Amino acid sequence: MQRNAADGIIISCDFCGTDWDGQAAMVEGHHGSVICLECVKKGLNSVVMGEDKYDCTLCLRHNISAALPRWANSLRPQAVVCQECLHQAAKALSKAPHAQWKWQGKPTD
Ligand SMILES: [Zn+2]
Ligand SMILES: [Zn+2]
Repeated sequence: MQRNAADGIIISCDFCGTDWDGQAAMVEGHHGSVICLECVKKGLNSVVMGEDKYDCTLCLRHNISAALPRWANSLRPQAVVCQECLHQAAKALSKAPHAQWKWQGKPTD
């Protein structure tokens, strides 16, 4: 997410609220939504099945089936990410040299 500050626009992770320092590995979703590497790592390990349909903060899809696992950080539970976005973000970060991280989850796709 973004907010305006005196010295410009500040970008921060929608899921933990950490401000971007201009260096950290982050992945942008739609409409300025952002997820940081730490949240991607946490999310990949702790997706859950919910009971109701939900909206994803990153891809902005609405009424996503409860069958698709989701994740939210307890720091900002109003932001929910679908597993597809987590996987996409994980792939993108695995290719980003400065992330210095490789996703071990689904090497085949
Ligand atoms: Zn984060
Ligand atoms: Zn999504």
